[in-house]
Amino acid sequence: MYPSGDANAKPLQVAICGAGIAGFAAAAAFRRQGHIVEIFESSAFSKEVGAAVGVPPNATLILKHLGYSKERARAVDYFGSQSRDCSGEGPIFHAFARPSTQTWGNEWMMVHRVDLHNEIRYLATGAEGKGTPAKLHLSTAVESCDPEKGILTLANGRVRQFDLIVGADGIYSKTRTSVLGKVVEAPIASKPTAAFRWVMPVSALEGKPELDWLLKEGAQGGRVTVSKEGHFLLCYPCRDKTLINSIAIHLDKRDQTKIGRNVASSKEELLEEFKCYAPKFKAWMELAEGVRIWQLRTMPVLDTWVNGRTCLIGDAAHAMFPTLGQGAAMVLEDSVVLAGLIPLGTRPDQINQRLRAYEGLRKERGEFVARQAELQAVVPEMRGTYSRSFEMQDKLMFYDAPKVAAEYYQKHFASKEQKAPAAYLERARL
Ligand SMILES: Cc1cc2nc3c(=O)[nH]c(=O)nc-3n(C[C@H](O)[C@H](O)[C@H](O)COP(=O)(O)OP(=O)(O)OC[C@H]3O[C@@H](n4cnc5c(N)ncnc54)[C@H](O)[C@@H]3O)c2cc1C
Repeated sequence: MYPSGDANAKPLQVAICGAGIAGFAAAAAFRRQGHIVEIFESSAFSKEVGAAVGVPPNATLILKHLGYSKERARAVDYFGSQSRDCSGEGPIFHAFARPSTQTWGNEWMMVHRVDLHNEIRYLATGAEGKGTPAKLHLSTAVESCDPEKGILTLANGRVRQFDLIVGADGIYSKTRTSVLGKVVEAPIASKPTAAFRWVMPVSALEGKPELDWLLKEGAQGGRVTVSKEGHFLLCYPCRDKTLINSIAIHLDKRDQTKIGRNVASSKEELLEEFKCYAPKFKAWMELAEGVRIWQLRTMPVLDTWVNGRTCLIGDAAHAMFPTLGQGAAMVLEDSVVLAGLIPLGTRPDQINQRLRAYEGLRKERGEFVARQAELQAVVPEMRGTYSRSFEMQDKLMFYDAPKVAAEYYQKHFASKEQKAPAAYLERARL
């Protein structure tokens, strides 16, 4: 029996381009709906990379909906951040001090991206769980698609046809070019911005009492420092508190047109850029190894996210700065809203109508968060707005994506023959 409860309904053939967090989350959600899913991923995943990602309560809700395991994801609870001036003097500001579960109903977590990615991959392709496991094609890049006909052209020359194509191929999305009929790239920010990133073992702090403050209170939160010039240095633990993830955002003096988006850097470059910082913070940066530097880019507002039977989700639609820690959350929200509008029993001729509904529910919110994340990084007067504004926190973190989809579905599409799947309705009743 499929999740919709209709044993005779015909599953849709769904192609997902890209196996990042968006692609796997969409695959997990569509699989649970009873559809047949194939994922096409350009990389071989031979060496998984990345630092940590924040999983705010609106994202945790979705991971629970998809049946994730907090233990497998090795997630660490986040209980707010302590923010300090880079001089090491002045008061400590406590950001996001409201307890997450009591305030928004779910935990706020910090997770290594590789752990989160592996967990969502398991939910999409693992043998356990509802529906048919999604089939993953690694080293299989998508070249283009015919969005109206649902025809996917792969870089290896093969051509396949599907009922629905989901473009989850990230900031350099090829699917986006096919959906829009033109190339739209993420431009360099009005103030070019970049982030040094590195992860170090907690054991690196042993025997260094001057760095005890990084782990105080069991390291259940973030430690933030800021400078007047806009430097922003943040760390938080992940992977069962065995690793500390650090990110150092700054205005980028390099010519961003001439360098890769994510390239190797060094402790020396980091310390040079953050030289205005007090010695207690430099002692933290002195421990950095394997430093990489990422350009921060955000997608402009796109004309549309939908064409025919093809749509965009995640970074392909709304790549954003990490300022609000909502990147992974927006990706997860897109995925379950999309799948929630397309239960088993949806006919191929209804897909465009559902994709339009998805765009109506998601585009404004995704673009709002992307815009705010950039503004709050590059406009000095706007810095820290999110950490101070309960209204904005509530707007982002009370969002219940499965419920949003279920209510919309019930109101606009449900008929006696075609009911929203039980899992979505269950959330809607909460
Ligand atoms: C390797 C990697 C490491 C990252 N590390 C971090 C991190 O440490 N912290 C953080 O906050 N964010 C990180 N991010 C970004 C973060 O995961 C995304 O911003 C966010 O989760 C959105 O996910 P997404 O799935 O939409 O896009 P992405 O994560 O970019 O995933 C897109 C996927 O599509 C694949 N792809 C691209 N083009 C094609 C094509 N033509 N055909 C088929 N497949 C294609 C890519 O290989 C990738 O797997 C990382 C992204 C990547 C790809």
